[in-house]
Amino acid sequence: TYVVTDNCIACKYTDCVEVCPVDCFYEGENMLVIHPDECIDCGVCEPECPADAIRPDTEPDMEEWVAFNRKYAVAW
Ligand code: SF4
Repeated sequence: TYVVTDNCIACKYTDCVEVCPVDCFYEGENMLVIHPDECIDCGVCEPECPADAIRPDTEPDMEEWVAFNRKYAVAW
């Protein structure tokens, strides 16, 4: 899965949301998040992010970000 990290805070762009084929972005409290179970790992959103906030969970120490994204990835 891909996850959104804190570089997203205060970013006003939603290019990532528009390109996601499965609509798995959600609005968190002050940043976007990705639902880790809905993301199909396509990677399309990563280069669209101007803040470089979207990272694959295969990078080191991403467990907390996966949990954070999961927590806030709820439909309001
Ligand atoms: Fe959506 Fe693909 Fe990004 Fe996952 S990797 S959030 S499926 S665009």
